[in-house]
Amino acid sequence: MANSNQLQPASVFEMFALINKVPRPSKHEEQMIEFLVDFAKKNNLQYKVDDTGNVLISKPATLGMEDRPTVILQSHMDMVCEKNNDVQMDFLKDPIQTWIDGEWMKAKGTTLGADDGIGCAMELALLVDESVKHGPIQCVFTRDEETGLTGAEGMQPGFMDGDMLINLDSEDEGQIFVSCAGGCRTEAVFTFTPEPTPEGLFFLRLQVKGLMGGHSGDDIDKKRANANKILARFLYTSLKRYGLRLSDIQAGGLHNAIPREAEALVAVPVKYKEQIRIDWNLFAADVEEEFRVTEPSMQFLLESADAADTVLPADVNYRLISALQAVHNGILAMSQDMELVETSSNLASIRQEAPGRIRINSSQRSSFMSNRHNMANTIAATFELAGAEVNIGEGYPGWKPNPDSRLLKVTVEQYERLFGRKPIVRGIHAGLECGLFSEKYPNLDMVSFGPTLRGVHSPDERLEIKTVDLVWKHLLAVLENI
Ligand SMILES: [Zn+2]
Repeated sequence: MANSNQLQPASVFEMFALINKVPRPSKHEEQMIEFLVDFAKKNNLQYKVDDTGNVLISKPATLGMEDRPTVILQSHMDMVCEKNNDVQMDFLKDPIQTWIDGEWMKAKGTTLGADDGIGCAMELALLVDESVKHGPIQCVFTRDEETGLTGAEGMQPGFMDGDMLINLDSEDEGQIFVSCAGGCRTEAVFTFTPEPTPEGLFFLRLQVKGLMGGHSGDDIDKKRANANKILARFLYTSLKRYGLRLSDIQAGGLHNAIPREAEALVAVPVKYKEQIRIDWNLFAADVEEEFRVTEPSMQFLLESADAADTVLPADVNYRLISALQAVHNGILAMSQDMELVETSSNLASIRQEAPGRIRINSSQRSSFMSNRHNMANTIAATFELAGAEVNIGEGYPGWKPNPDSRLLKVTVEQYERLFGRKPIVRGIHAGLECGLFSEKYPNLDMVSFGPTLRGVHSPDERLEIKTVDLVWKHLLAVLENI
């Protein structure tokens, strides 16, 4: 691939070049909406825009194919805007500058916007291509996928009225996505009156750090250690052995990240101060062994600390530490349809935010709404038993695999016919817009696929050029044969 004139399919890359002239940061998609509306008008295509700003452009069936199911093609119109420090760029005004680096298309020091501009480009190319054969088509461009799926969330039932939907926002050519996880957050709050520190206690600061962390959905099956749970294990055994008292705890962070660091200020009777150090070292060695492959750089720190004025009252101390030991964390269930996590929970943070108030945040995910509720209830019940105030957030829905999907059958068949190999059919243990569609359009038959992208959401974002042609051919074959 020497230069951009040779990019194939030319029509898709031409559309992508046009799209990259239109500023479209998440939540600032006005110019992109206008561009899409103009595009529809110019090409005499019917269109509508909903109150949220989602755009739908229809194209009638090719002559003789009017009785085919209506297929919705869907991408999101917004993009993540990241740049390197040395790049001058106003994402609200300036076009994205692309260049070709061997097999890859890249941007000059910014995100490329192929997530999901390349999906939008395929839809536009299809809308004006008279050589393609298909049934009735609806091209949908959702707003603001990247900062909370709010375009798909705001879409009203009835806006789209197709039978099947192909989401063009996946990032691995040769993989067909058929499910995603829904999620919610569960919060527990312990409130209490701190107790003045009793006589004869020795204070220690415990820290677990240097963990891998990662995404609480995508990485939940990688056996990464959860810093909060590691710390909780030690607190629980020391509570039983020495009557450990907690004075402060600051552990974990973002709800969608596996926690990498946890810290607690604790106290034990002075006579146990040497014994607990020995325990800590033995504990550290055991845990390092448990995670010797997946967590090569864990650190366990214990240091003497100045005495604090207060500790948790004994009953709250017992209930909180026991709940942290008891609460589920990690995978609850694997999928019955494919090699994928179906349901999980992440104990994200434990923080004393003011004296006498400790807040615990966790997030649950599942491709089955029912099991997401079950998972959240399990977490809630654990903390309720321990006397905490618990709140389960509303969350967003998942998309469960449909083993009878006609669209999937055709999608797989056509891939094999074209390329002589089987595509990988899989799900993702994180959110996609398809989860929201499956709630509003329960009978919609959906799949998701797209060309290969790497480094998305960063200035490293790049598009593997040859996969665009593969996906385009595949897409056309699916439309012709559905
Ligand atoms: Zn995307």
